[in-house]
Amino acid sequence: MKSRIYHTQSEEQTIALGESLASELPAQAVVLLIGNLGAGKTTLAKGIVKGLKAAQPDDVSSPTFTLIHEYGSGVYHIDLYRLDTPAQVARLGLEEIFERPAIVLIEWGERFPELMPKERIEIRLRSTGEDSREIQVAQVK
Ligand code: ADP
Ligand code: MG
Repeated sequence: MKSRIYHTQSEEQTIALGESLASELPAQAVVLLIGNLGAGKTTLAKGIVKGLKAAQPDDVSSPTFTLIHEYGSGVYHIDLYRLDTPAQVARLGLEEIFERPAIVLIEWGERFPELMPKERIEIRLRSTGEDSREIQVAQVK
């Protein structure tokens, strides 16, 4: 995955960016979506899931309460916002999901760095205006 910085000016552009990033992903990857509330993590996830042809954007929502959503053909979307301790996260059994030939998108995973795989893609999203976002993609390891 190429490291680079993108700028989007609307929700639709962020979804389109997610679709194009999806085509660059390897068959197995853990992708941390990092940014404040409202930065666009779930919006980018919609685009990635769409690009992977696993679901339509309207069917992708924040797994804030369910914690883990699984979309067709090995695509997971995880939101750790409501969990407070590493012990709670450990109970989800993420290691097992990380071993699958799957794309795993995680919101708030950076809060539990010791439980995330060393090799991962980090996407940092930042508001630069009401509808503008800076989106930085980096391969970590
Ligand atoms: P998060 O998951 O980071 O909390 P969401 O994706 O749920 O964020 O929400 C992002 C909000 O910001 C949505 O209401 C969306 O319409 C709005 N928005 C405005 N401009 C953009 C943009 N360029 N990219 C993504 N979302 C945007
Ligand atoms: Mg979200």
